[in-house]
This record gives sequence, C-alpha cells and structure tokens, in this order.
Amino acid sequence: MRKLEELLRDNILRLSPYSCARNEYSGHSATVLLDANENPYNNPYNRYPDPLQQELKNVMAKLKGVSPEQICFGNGSDEIIDLLFRCFCRPGVDNVVAIEPTYGMYRVCADINDVEYRPVRLDDNFQLDADRLLNACDANTKLIWICSPNNPTGNLIDSGMIEKVVSAFDGIVVIDEAYTDFSRSVPFRLKLAKFPNIVVLNTMSKAWGCAGIRLGMAFAQKEIIDIFNKVKYPYNINVLTQRYAMDALKDSFRVEKWINTIVEERGRMVAAFRALPVCRKIYPTDANFFLAKMDDAQAIYDYLVRKGIIVRNRTNVCMCENCLRVTIGTKSENNELLAALRQY
Ligand SMILES: *Cc1c(COP(=O)(O)O)cnc(C)c1O
Repeated sequence: MRKLEELLRDNILRLSPYSCARNEYSGHSATVLLDANENPYNNPYNRYPDPLQQELKNVMAKLKGVSPEQICFGNGSDEIIDLLFRCFCRPGVDNVVAIEPTYGMYRVCADINDVEYRPVRLDDNFQLDADRLLNACDANTKLIWICSPNNPTGNLIDSGMIEKVVSAFDGIVVIDEAYTDFSRSVPFRLKLAKFPNIVVLNTMSKAWGCAGIRLGMAFAQKEIIDIFNKVKYPYNINVLTQRYAMDALKDSFRVEKWINTIVEERGRMVAAFRALPVCRKIYPTDANFFLAKMDDAQAIYDYLVRKGIIVRNRTNVCMCENCLRVTIGTKSENNELLAALRQY
C-alpha cells in the first residue's frame, strides 16, 4: 500500500476541520450546557447529537468484531461512498476501477466528483478476474470498488480473487458487503488486521430492516477513519437515528430470525421461478434478492406493475439483458408474485 499521505488529496491531508461545540467539550459531569446556542426546552431533541456517535460505536464494535476506532457511520452507506471519492480522488485527475455490472452509486458519485470511472466486466458467471481488474489500474487509480454479494447479480465474488486484488493493489480497495448477513462467507471486516488497505461497507438498510433511519458504516484502519471524521458533516447522524439504532441492535435475535426466514423463502422462490415457462435462468444468489433472466423482462415488468407488484427491471444494465431483480418479501407477498406470474 502507498502511504496514506500519498493517496489522499493534498487539501484533505492539510484540512483543519470545523470544531463544533460538542467536539470541544466531551466530559461526563456537565449539567449546564450553554455552549451550542441550543434552545434549553424540548429535551432531548433540543440537543445536538454526539458528532462521533461513541455510544453506538461501542455497541456496534462488539457486534461486528472490530474496534470502535475502526468505524465511521454515514447517512446511509451512500454518504460513505461519496466521502471516499472526496477524500482520495482529485477531480479531473484521478480515476477509480470497479467491477461491472454493480451498484449504480459508485459511478454516480464518480460523475458528481468529476472522477474517471473505469468499469471492468465480470465473466459470464459474474465472477472477477483479478488480473483484468488490476490491468485497468494506473498510477492515478486511487480506489477499486468491489461489491460482494454483488448487486444486481446477487452472487458472492470469490474471496480468493478479492484478496489477490487487495494484495496486489497499492491503493484502497472498497469492499461493499451490504448483503453479507445473507451469506455464509467470512466478512472482510474481520480481515482488517491483515489488509490495511481495505474499506469495508455495511448498512442497517438490508438485513437489519432499518432502511428508513439511514445508517450505513465503513470499517477501516483507524488512520483512514480519522480522515473520514475530519471530512464528514459534524452532526451527520441525527439523534433519532442514533437512538433507534441503539434499540435495534439490542435485538439481534429478531434479525437472525428474519434472515433465516428470508433465506428459506429465497430457496422456495428460486425453485418456483425455475418452473415458470417465461423464466430462462436464475443466477446464483447469496443476497435477499435474485436475478432472473426472462423471455421478455419489459413485458413481464409492465404486467406486474398493472397488478400492483413492483420488481426491478434490470434489462438495460450491462450483461443483464431481459433480467428482473426480485427482492424476497414476506411469504404472502412472494405468493402474490408467483400467482401473478403463473397467470401471465
Ligand atoms: C442497498 C445497498 C447499499 C445500502 O445503501 P444505504 O445508503 O446504506 O441504504 C449499499 N451498497 C449496496 C451494494 C446496496 O445494494
């Protein structure tokens, strides 16, 4: 890995961050808070949130098997994705490399930040060839984007291949594991000690059932997290979100049950889709959705919309011609979808 000072943008390296009231004071015994121009009424929502979310990080760290200093929370993972571009990539100069097809936000954030985006196609089984990915890199490549299990394809990317990329690349490899709870593979956040140049993304939006509260997270070595903390908005995670997340994390048993049910339903749905005359192929999945190649994805999508059932039409995505991406719902939602398709 290149030195962090070489990878970061100069302005970010030199940045002296905004110091907010709740940053400057962080003792425990204060009872009179007259430092932040807050309204003294309407407790507790009159108070600014903890800018570094210490309480939540302590709980999350235990749950995820990392240390609190290795966590940065974002307003969804989407905030962290943007943060990575802003910290590492010089607009108009640097570039990033990513697998293709994959999650659309990486390209959108690259475009917003005026950073060249270099997609490298996966093979016919949606698997990664480490050498092809590495060949797309040059001296100005700061980030490599890998998503596993991948969206919209659903499959795990071979972890040996990912490790090969991580070992050979001298910049940062971002591994988006938004769907890791639905798979049995060892999560990359547990390999931080071995690979100092990875940034792993997780989210509360999928298995944890909290898409509405907007809480995503990055796991990385402390030196990288310190940079994120300097650049992010001081109060990026609001009080309501921090409180709700604290409560949600207490009930990981409930989440385990959801995951088991969803994975079981996934097996049933994949088998049922295979039996449909209009379904040509189901791709292997380790996520809470699957990708299905159909006879005519647009026509089936339109038909389902008329029935009030919305799936994701991915036919215009590279290598996903005539594919629908179907999220696993409740048993009865899944049955509605199957009933509609059997009538098609
Ligand atoms: C859904 C998803 C996310 C989650 O984004 P949030 O902003 O945390 O809701 C991240 N990455 C991928 C690949 C996803 O599919």
